[in-house]
Amino acid sequence: MHHFEYRDGALHAEDVPLSTIADTVGTPFYCYSSATLVRHYRVFAKAFEGQKALICYAVKANSNQAVIRTLAQEGAGADVVSEGELRRALAAGVPAERIVFSGVGKTRAEMAAALDAGIHQFNVESEPELDALSEVAVSKGVEAPVAMRVNPDVDPRTHEKISTGKKENKFGVPWSRARDIYARAAGLSGIRVVGVDVHIGSQLTDLGPFREAFSRVVDLVAMLRGEGHDIRRLDLGGGLGIPYEAGDAPPPHPDHYAALVRELTQPLDCEIILEPGRLIAGNAGVLVSRVIYVKEGESRRFVILDAAMNDLLRPSLYDAYHEIIPLNQPTDDQRAPVDVVGPVCETGDVFAKARPMPPLAAGDYVAILSAGAYGAVMASAYNSRPLVPEVLVRGSDYAVIRPRPSVADLIAQDRLPPWLENRA
Ligand SMILES: *Cc1c(COP(=O)(O)O)cnc(C)c1O
Repeated sequence: MHHFEYRDGALHAEDVPLSTIADTVGTPFYCYSSATLVRHYRVFAKAFEGQKALICYAVKANSNQAVIRTLAQEGAGADVVSEGELRRALAAGVPAERIVFSGVGKTRAEMAAALDAGIHQFNVESEPELDALSEVAVSKGVEAPVAMRVNPDVDPRTHEKISTGKKENKFGVPWSRARDIYARAAGLSGIRVVGVDVHIGSQLTDLGPFREAFSRVVDLVAMLRGEGHDIRRLDLGGGLGIPYEAGDAPPPHPDHYAALVRELTQPLDCEIILEPGRLIAGNAGVLVSRVIYVKEGESRRFVILDAAMNDLLRPSLYDAYHEIIPLNQPTDDQRAPVDVVGPVCETGDVFAKARPMPPLAAGDYVAILSAGAYGAVMASAYNSRPLVPEVLVRGSDYAVIRPRPSVADLIAQDRLPPWLENRA
């Protein structure tokens, strides 16, 4: 469910026609719906009502301050994967005691920052990381609350680039080593073992792999408790998928996901931590773009947009499907296959291949849907294309929540070394 729909033939974000924003902000731009963000968070939170659940929004999906704050106001915590995200979450008003820190390569400086902030939990992914965290915590005279991220070796049946829970992936500690590593962790000063963590991948569209992974984790908790570890928290990660393509079977509803979690984990009486990212932000955002040219190729027609892979990488990186629709609602069902591409000098700069699209002409606006997660955050200035602005809508209000930098800003980031100055 989202709040982007045609009204009187014009695509709206909540009560604002997207063409109004396009005319004032210019294209391309990202546009997010507050109502959709809030709705997704509430549906998810409601699904877990009655369970001791802490919902930590995975900030990497969309880390704009306005997005994080919108969710923080709803009570969301944050799952962060860098000091930058930690500081963003804190700056947006997420209390430290609702922040968990994940990621395979936390530096000592990042650990120190998180310990100073007093975060809820470190999700530790290796023995060397555990040693480093122990040292940093001891040097500060504090204890770090730790869950080890275990790799359950489960196939999440999603795109290989967003699968994280198979044994060949870099994430987590090997299942077979978990017992020994917990024993070591228990003996390390500065470390307080509080839980077990798992995250098997992203855009999962069926509950089977979750059931497999969570069942294994539940068994592990029972075993670890038997060994004397005081395991009170179970972090089950994120990964619940969203619909991208109209006509696809809908992914599991959060209610069913939550029921599965309850069924499997209730006997343990743990605090459950959940880290949804895409589910909250994915369908809460669109990328609005303008057609620059329509070009007749030898064997196909190209619709060339002013948005490109540097603005939205998912199609190039993950072969991801995104619906593309005109801001002006087509009046009939006439469709012809076209390639929708960007202007970047890369063959991979393609949003859609042989996609049946209504007639489009230069100057028309289109919206690339489901671009709220892993969109703006992955953007780069490749081809010296300034990052595109982000806009947040709430009802009939909208605000630019990250302005478009100028090309001059971009150039001003570079510095000439002394030997190149004044030699133009
Ligand atoms: C990316 C990530 C998430 C969020 O995944 P979604 O598929 O966006 O829900 C949660 N936890 C960890 C550890 C992650 O790396």
